[in-house]
Amino acid sequence: MLEIRDLTVRYGRIAAVQGASLHVGEGELVGLVGPNGAGKSSTLKAVAGLVGAADGEVLVAGEPVGSSPIRAGIAYVPESRRIFGGLTVEENLRLGATTRGRSDRSAELRRMYERFPLLGTRRRSGAGDLSGGQQQILAIARALVARPRLLLLDEPTLGLSPAMIDEVFGIVASLREDGVTVLLVEQNTLRTLALADRTYVMRPPGQIVFEGSQAELERDPTVEQRYLQLL
Ligand code: ATP
Repeated sequence: MLEIRDLTVRYGRIAAVQGASLHVGEGELVGLVGPNGAGKSSTLKAVAGLVGAADGEVLVAGEPVGSSPIRAGIAYVPESRRIFGGLTVEENLRLGATTRGRSDRSAELRRMYERFPLLGTRRRSGAGDLSGGQQQILAIARALVARPRLLLLDEPTLGLSPAMIDEVFGIVASLREDGVTVLLVEQNTLRTLALADRTYVMRPPGQIVFEGSQAELERDPTVEQRYLQLL
């Protein structure tokens, strides 16, 4: 579903990502972990079209994403969530559904309220009045109403309480059960390794140094010694 080939992202003279390659198969849940400043967010932003690639290619279903990531079926939930605090929960969800027809839009909202009953209960509440974890659930739901082919999640558990971290990891696990293709950036390395089908490890400056499943990582303790101790 997603193929990143030799991606380089630069901010002026800083090379945040240097020749990174990764792939995510249809229906796969793939993790991307690494210490602060490794280049994880910049990789996601390049896929979402928010930063340009200085070099390399991003393909979705074999086609270059180019300038239209939304048309390519990519939904991106940024680290800071970016819900609209001054709008209601429902208005936020409607914004996520603008690419769908009117009847589809109502059906998608119903689907989200069934899936996330809390959002149904709070549909008329100001989104800014929700807790951080509830806002994260809203941000994920807003991305899902567009029925994306590929969902990019940037540190969805950042700053959440332990109970909410459990809840968000549970939601991510359920997305995989529903066949949604997910690329998940996380600081919570061990839980990501346990959940994901495969995980990539990045380290500064912007290099992918390991790719594999939790079982593969456990078979190769040098990877843990060399890279995961950094985390
Ligand atoms: P974090 O978990 O801290 O977000 P990360 O692995 O997601 O880390 P990035 O945010 O992609 O890493 O940052 C990679 C490098 O690029 C870092 O050195 C960072 O300081 C730099 N960087 C990121 N965004 C910008 C920007 N807008 N302008 C200049 N440098 C940037």
